[in-house]
Amino acid sequence: MTAEIIDGKAFAARIRGEVAGQVAALRRDHGIVPGLAVVLVGEDPASQVYVRNKHKQTVEAGMESFEHRLPVETSEEELLALVARLNADPAVHGILVQLPLPAQIDADKVIAAIDPAKDVDGFHISNVGLLATGQKALVPCTPLGCLMMLRDRLGSLSGREAVVIGRSNIVGKPMAQLLLRDSCTVTVAHSRTRDLAEVVRRAEIVVAAVGRPGMVTGDWIRPGATVIDVGINRIEDAETGKTRLVGDCDFESCAAVAGAITPVPGGVGPMTIACLLANTLTATCRAAGLPEPE
Ligand code: NDP
Repeated sequence: MTAEIIDGKAFAARIRGEVAGQVAALRRDHGIVPGLAVVLVGEDPASQVYVRNKHKQTVEAGMESFEHRLPVETSEEELLALVARLNADPAVHGILVQLPLPAQIDADKVIAAIDPAKDVDGFHISNVGLLATGQKALVPCTPLGCLMMLRDRLGSLSGREAVVIGRSNIVGKPMAQLLLRDSCTVTVAHSRTRDLAEVVRRAEIVVAAVGRPGMVTGDWIRPGATVIDVGINRIEDAETGKTRLVGDCDFESCAAVAGAITPVPGGVGPMTIACLLANTLTATCRAAGLPEPE
């Protein structure tokens, strides 16, 4: 194995530490405590784990955590009414509605109802548009975490060839926008891309956000490339019968060729919540008219 393993867990802990320091200063100097409201509808097991971790890390960072757990049969009107209350609550600086939502609720409608200034997930169309036009936005947490890891390893990204595999609104598209903003030459690949392996082989930066275990193999990777594996796939281990998490990249073969790679778990995942906390701090500072953290 030649690749450096990018330690997302340690990097995320560093960011959370910085956020906690800034939160403490905000409380001390201005009497402001950032507040993050997380709304969970239903009992999706993966979502429950995410929400639990978000609550824990929000509190550890010195922020106020407001958890709203609603039953699976909650109507769209009820959820919209809660979002309206959170929009109006001055103690709430960030609002996150955990996806997926049950079938009776239109997720687009709910996201559109969140005050863009409190949209710490960066999914509101205003924030999407601001990012796309190079203006100050709240940026989706997972791609923001990927960008931080890339900048940390590579320094300037200007002029680099980047291939993003996946074009979802929550990962692939905003990732491509962020890389473009950093002056990469960006290719966005997806399920209709022809000769995907050949396209990926051009890349100095590969971001895989597909949801297919081990799809990207070492023979797709340009030697020395930086590989960011966003995928979180639960698979059954043939030998033990137990389940475990793997990424979209076949770790062993990719690590043999890449210059650096993120592991799954312990790569992109921990960065996502750290960036959520950073976004909540940013939203708080903007609401108070204070300088934003770097
Ligand atoms: P989506 O299912 O919304 O999007 C997947 C994308 O992959 C689509 O654009 C799809 O193309 C593309 N795709 C599917 N099959 C292929 C293929 N064979 N070849 C090329 N492209 C393909 O997923 P998300 O973006 O929401 O998530 C992607 C992965 O990242 C998942 O494993 C998810 O669990 C993980 N994730 C991890 C997070 C973290 O914190 N680490 C946060 C969010 C997601 P098309 O558009 O043509 O259908």
